Amino acid sequence: MIQKLTIEKIYLDKKLEKNKFARKIIDRLPGRPVVLVDNNARVEHEISLSPDPITQGKKVVYLTENRSFLRPCPCTPGCLSCGYWNIDLDQNCPLDCSYCILQAYLNGRPLVLSVNRIELEKEAQKFLSQKRKVTIRIGTGELTDSLALDWLTENSLFLIDLFKGAERCLLEFKTKTADIENLLKIKPEANVVIAWSLNPEKIIAMEERGTASLLARLVAAKRAVNHGYKVGFHFDPIIHYEGWKEDYAEVVKMIFKYIPVEAICWVSLGTLRFPPGLPDVARYRFKDSKLYEQEFIKGWDGKYRYPRPRRLKIYLEMTEVFYDYSLGEKVYLCMESPSIYGEALIKKIRGRYLTTFPFPWLC
Ligand code: SF4
Repeated sequence: MIQKLTIEKIYLDKKLEKNKFARKIIDRLPGRPVVLVDNNARVEHEISLSPDPITQGKKVVYLTENRSFLRPCPCTPGCLSCGYWNIDLDQNCPLDCSYCILQAYLNGRPLVLSVNRIELEKEAQKFLSQKRKVTIRIGTGELTDSLALDWLTENSLFLIDLFKGAERCLLEFKTKTADIENLLKIKPEANVVIAWSLNPEKIIAMEERGTASLLARLVAAKRAVNHGYKVGFHFDPIIHYEGWKEDYAEVVKMIFKYIPVEAICWVSLGTLRFPPGLPDVARYRFKDSKLYEQEFIKGWDGKYRYPRPRRLKIYLEMTEVFYDYSLGEKVYLCMESPSIYGEALIKKIRGRYLTTFPFPWLC
C-alpha cells in the first residue's frame, strides 16, 4: 500500500466530531495526533510553514464536509468534451507526479476527505433519477487518484453500492496504483470500470513518485479482469522524448499480453499540457525532471502544449497501434481541439463524424 505510513497528522472539522465515518478514519490511523479546527485556515497556515508545502500537504489529512459533489467535467474552453462527470469526494493526492496540475491549483492544501456521505447519497439519488435515459461516465479521479487512499476511505465500496443497478451510469476508478484489494472483496457490478493511467517505465520511475510500476499496474488490471471487472486505460499525459514512439508501442503491446481486448471499455490519449505556473513549481520539486525543457506553445485556453504537428503525430501513431489491436474505435482524446480530433481520429479511424460522440459503443 502506498504512502500509508506517511500520514502524520489529522485535522478534524469541529462540526464533525460525532460523524461516524470521520471516527472510522481516525481509528484507521492510530497514533496520529487529531486536532479540532473551525475551518481550513489553520490547516493551510501550518502546512504553509513547511519549506515544501505541497509535499507536506500530502502527509496531512483534513476531515471535513463538501457542499456539493457531482459536477460535469469542466474540460477546457475550445476542446471537445467527452461528457465526463466528476465526483468531488476527496481532494489532493498522496502520490506525487511531476506533471500533476494539482501542484499549481492546490498548493499547500492537505488531503481533504469529505465525510458527509449522507449528502452525497441524496445528491446521487437525485442525479440518477434525472439522468435515467442517458449514458454517463462518472468518476473520482479528477482531484486525486481514485484508489490511492482506498485502504483508508473505502470510497470504492461506498460508491459501488451507491451506483448499484444504475446500468447507464458507468462508475470509473482511475488509478496509478495496484491497490484493488477492496474491489476484489466484492462481486463485480456491471457498471464499474477500473482504469489505469499508463506510461513507459522510465517515465514512471522519473516522474511518478509513489505510484506502482507499469508491470504492477498491468498485473492488477489482469486480476481485476479475472475477477469480472471491465477495465480502461489512460495515456495521459503522453510525454514526448527521444524514443517515445517505441516505448509507448511497447506499453500498448504489454497491455494486450495481459488483458483481452473485449475487457477494455475505453482508452484515452492526451499529450502533456499545463498552466503557466506549473513548470517553476515542478522544477523546484523534481530537480532531475526534463519534462518542461522542450518546445511548447501557449494554447487557446492559456495552457501550454506541444506544437500542433507534434501532438497530431503522437495521436496518429498511438491510434494506429491501437487500431492494429482492433481497439481503435474505443480511443478518444482528452482536452483536444475539434480540429486535432478530426484529423487524428474521426477522419483517420472512424471515417465519419459521430453524432453519438464520443462513445458510440456504449450507447
Ligand atoms: S496520481 Fe494523478 S492526482 Fe495523483 S499526483 Fe499523480 S497526476 Fe496528481
